[in-house]
Amino acid sequence: MTATDRFAAPRPVPKAGILDIAPYKPGKAAAEGVVDPVKLSANENILGSSDKARSAYAEAASQLNLYPAGRADILRAAIAQKYNLEPERLLFGCGSDEIFQLLNQTFLEPGDNMIQGAHGFAAYAIGARACQGEVRYVAEKNFTIDVDALLEAVDARTRLIFLANPANPTGTWISADEVRRLHEGLPPSVVLVLDGAYAEFNTDPSYEDGLAMARHADNIVVTRTFSKIHGLAALRVGWSYMPAEMAAAVDRIRLPFNINIPAQLAAVASLQDDDFAARSVALVEQWRPWLTQQISGLGLDVVPSAANFVLVGFPSTAGRTAVEAEAFLAARGLLTRGVGNYGLPDHLRITIGLEQHNRAVVDGLAEFMSR
Ligand SMILES: *Cc1c(COP(=O)(O)O)cnc(C)c1O
Repeated sequence: MTATDRFAAPRPVPKAGILDIAPYKPGKAAAEGVVDPVKLSANENILGSSDKARSAYAEAASQLNLYPAGRADILRAAIAQKYNLEPERLLFGCGSDEIFQLLNQTFLEPGDNMIQGAHGFAAYAIGARACQGEVRYVAEKNFTIDVDALLEAVDARTRLIFLANPANPTGTWISADEVRRLHEGLPPSVVLVLDGAYAEFNTDPSYEDGLAMARHADNIVVTRTFSKIHGLAALRVGWSYMPAEMAAAVDRIRLPFNINIPAQLAAVASLQDDDFAARSVALVEQWRPWLTQQISGLGLDVVPSAANFVLVGFPSTAGRTAVEAEAFLAARGLLTRGVGNYGLPDHLRITIGLEQHNRAVVDGLAEFMSR
């Protein structure tokens, strides 16, 4: 549609590409006819959040009339200290989702492209399309990022690569050596975004969260979130570490007061509660192998996960499909996540829960498979 056509239209017309974007689909929070279901559909922290964070949040009620510090000063100082990072290289977002959006807005012109894995997180692509950027989905091997294939997809219009490590919805990951190989193979003008939303749940020694790599690179951004390990998804706090020049650019288009005061104070308090974080990791480390083994034992394919969820593959035969399994589990009060919109119509993503939830999932799947 030309500019003249848009002007002559009987009602306002969104710019090209907007209506081709599929809206982000959150994990289900309710099922019809089910009272108090267990939500295993959004990779939230099943332990809740730190008591210290809850107290800090409640105390913040006395400051609701105030604008937050524009640069999230208290939180900035706390993150810089905790991770030993230069404060001016940090950038905060209303969830890491906002940071992905800001990076796309900063680097993509219409016709530029952004690259991600075939099953990459949906938020990256939504933001890129909003900038009229092209999204290149690169085939994965065994549901895992293929570094060579990513590198082959790069051309002169590539501005960004988004890589969640561990990934969502697959839970798979690549080693620090592979991330380094990817970085070394990229032109220095291409931004490599390492999304570490699930970094804390990967305790394998060959894994790195990328912060050390980013320190001496001009084109690496590491993003992290308070939504998963810290259980503060409701408060929407994400942070990122990037080169100072890049932070100075991205910061220009950020909303002025994007991290609210209760969120900042709760996040800072969370950083001081190592015990809560350790318990969150321990729960996942205890139940992830158990779920993997038990569900595999039912004849289903479980993709090896380094995150706080497992991805389960179902047969495509009627009566045994992922869609039917999702409905079957939901009717038993267990909400899981269908991932057809990620190109995985035969899979379900299931957040690791407390012992009773995990046992209920396995019992439910056993009954589903033996019907
Ligand atoms: C959950 C998740 C995030 C975190 O998003 P927030 O906006 O910080 O809540 C980021 N990336 C991936 C891949 C995720 O699954």
